[in-house]
Amino acid sequence: MFSNWENPCSCRPVNASSGRSAKLKTMAQSPPETLVGMDLTQIRDLVGETGGPSEPAFRARQIYQAIYRSQARSFEEISSLPAKLRDQLASRHDLGLPEIERVYDSSDGSRRYLLRLVDGRTVETVLMPEGERDTICISTQVGCPVDCKFCMTAFLGLERNLTAGEIVGQVLEVSGHNRLRRDGGRLNIVMMGQGEPLLNFENVVKATRILLDPKGFGLSPRRITLSTSGIVPKIEQLGCEEARPKLAISLNASTQRQREEIMPIARKYPLADLMAACKAYPLRPWEKLTFEYVLLKGVNDTDADARRVAKLLARLNAKVNLIALNPGPEIPFETPTAERVASFQAIMRRSTPCFIRKPRGLDIFAACGQLKRSVVGQASSPVGYES
Ligand code: SAH
Ligand code: SF4
Repeated sequence: MFSNWENPCSCRPVNASSGRSAKLKTMAQSPPETLVGMDLTQIRDLVGETGGPSEPAFRARQIYQAIYRSQARSFEEISSLPAKLRDQLASRHDLGLPEIERVYDSSDGSRRYLLRLVDGRTVETVLMPEGERDTICISTQVGCPVDCKFCMTAFLGLERNLTAGEIVGQVLEVSGHNRLRRDGGRLNIVMMGQGEPLLNFENVVKATRILLDPKGFGLSPRRITLSTSGIVPKIEQLGCEEARPKLAISLNASTQRQREEIMPIARKYPLADLMAACKAYPLRPWEKLTFEYVLLKGVNDTDADARRVAKLLARLNAKVNLIALNPGPEIPFETPTAERVASFQAIMRRSTPCFIRKPRGLDIFAACGQLKRSVVGQASSPVGYES
C-alpha cells in the first residue's frame, strides 16, 4: 500500500501528542477499498461477484454514475438497479462515504468539516464559498510527514495515506451536504488540506481520474489544483499522467538556505532541482504553474526576497499567490504587515502575475496551515451538526 511513500525526513512525529521531535515509528495500514473510490473496472468485477455472470455489463455503469454523478448516498437510492441486486449489494458492501462528525462555521462563510473515516480516524475538509464560486479544500493524508516549520499540520506527523475513496468521498460528502452546483465552472477543488498529495501519489491520481471523468464526477481539469511542497520525482511523474490536476508549488523561500530552514524537505529536494522540474513540466495550453509563497515576517518577506523570487520564476509561465502567515499556537513566526505584503507583491508584479490570497476561516482554524484536529476544541463556536 505504501510502496510509493517516501519518508522525506527521517525524523517525524507520529501524532499530535508526540510533538515535532518524536520519531516516525509505524504507519497504520489503510482500510480496505470501499465502493466510493472504485473505478469502473473494479465495480464491474464487484457486480459480477455479487450478482453473478448473468448481470449485464451496463449495471456497473449505472452504479458508477449513480455514485459519482448523481451522488447516491446508499444502494437503496440507486433506483435504476433491480431490487434484488440492490439488496445483494447492500447486504455485502458499504458505499464507504465519510461521516460528518462536526461542522464549524466561520463568520466569513467558510465551513470546516471534521469527517470520520471507516477506521475511526478523522480528517478535515473546508468549503469556501465566494460569490459565484465554491471551493472545496480536501486532505490527501491523515496528518503530514513533511516538517514545514510554519504549518500546524506538521505537528500531527503522518498517520496514514487516505485511500482514493476517502479523497473522492470528501468531495461527495461536502458537495452533497451543501447541495453544491457543478455547472458553469462553479465548483473548484484544491488539494491543500492536510497532507502532501505527492507522497500519496497513486491514490491521489486515481481520485483525480474519477473526479475528472465525464462519466464520473465530471469536473473540468481547470477546476482542480494539487499543491505540493516540492517532491521533485513525483512532479515529473505527475506530468506524465493524462488526467491530472493543475499544479501549485509551495515555494515559500527565495534561497536554498532559507528554504531548508523553514521546509527541511528542501535538503532532499533542493531548490535548483525543484525549479528544473518546474521548467520541464509539460503545461497544457491553457495552464500556468502556480507558486504559493507564505510570507513570514523578517524571514522571507523583504524586497530582496521578492527580487530573488522574481528572478527564479522569470522564464516560467507562472503566477504567484502570496499568503501572509496564518498564525497558530506554537508556530514560531509572525505575520508581516499589510504594507510589507503589498511591497513584495509590487516587486513580483513587474515580471509575474501576483495575487494576495485572503485567509478564509481564520476564526475556525480552517485557513491554510491551520488544519490540525487537536485545535478542534479551541475553535470558536463550533456549529453542532454532529451526526
Ligand atoms: N502539503 C501541500 C498542500 C497542503 S498545505 C503543500 O505544502 O503545498 C497548503 C498550503 O498552505 C501550502 O502552500 C502551504 O505553504 C500553506 N501553509 C502552510 N502553513 C501555513 C500557514 N501557517 N499560513 C499560511 N499558509 C500556510
Ligand atoms: Fe505538510 Fe504542506 Fe503543511 Fe508542509 S505545508 S507540513 S507539506 S501540509
